[in-house]
Amino acid sequence: MEFVRKNIETLRLRVKEAAEKSGRREEDIKIVAVTKTVMPETIQVAVDCGLKILGENRVQEAQRKIELVKGDVSWHMIGHLQKNKVKYAVRLFSMIQSVDSYELAVEIDKRAGKLGKVMDVLVQVNIGKEETKFGAEYEETPELIKKISELENIRVKGLMAIAPFKEDPEDVRPFFRKMRELFLELKNLRLKNVEMEILSMGMTHDFHVAIEEGANMIRIGSGIFGPRI
Ligand SMILES: *Cc1c(COP(=O)(O)O)cnc(C)c1O
Repeated sequence: MEFVRKNIETLRLRVKEAAEKSGRREEDIKIVAVTKTVMPETIQVAVDCGLKILGENRVQEAQRKIELVKGDVSWHMIGHLQKNKVKYAVRLFSMIQSVDSYELAVEIDKRAGKLGKVMDVLVQVNIGKEETKFGAEYEETPELIKKISELENIRVKGLMAIAPFKEDPEDVRPFFRKMRELFLELKNLRLKNVEMEILSMGMTHDFHVAIEEGANMIRIGSGIFGPRI
């Protein structure tokens, strides 16, 4: 497990460096430790190193781990969410980062309402226009968020994106830059129930570029836990 500790140390140094390049501090960037396929004992090491936000792609996998991992942590849903899993997701997660349709938002609103909870969400944008990826169309995102903002039991806290994979992370810089533009545009609209605070983008391969372009939340899996098997 020593490698997890080492990886986190290295990660923090690189986050600090990228944050300073964009005139911010290390503390301004939140790290989500992505725990898909990772064993609870290994996740625990990351939590004991002080990581406080854990990201999971699947509801069932999260459920099992939430019971086993100890500490003051919150769990974020970062994978595609099926409507029939929403009722579990609103209980388990403190944020759903992968809202990409009005229908899904309506279901979250309904289920959160039943729990007497206001669910924090990010709207996922398909920034690379990739058919294999989920997310709302870039151009349609403002309209989607306006509609979602009418729902009482949902609070939009920002945007999430997965950049297309490029061998050279420099090649994704324009995608991250476009996301920041959209983020600022939406922030300026000052919609009710919308608090544009979080811009979640950047993974192990490209997080330094994402931070330089304005990300304030990054989602790191293999960079913490090693390659997934
Ligand atoms: C797996 C995953 C990550 C982390 O990917 P790494 O390349 O291992 O850092 C981040 N975000 C989402 C949505 C993921 O599914």
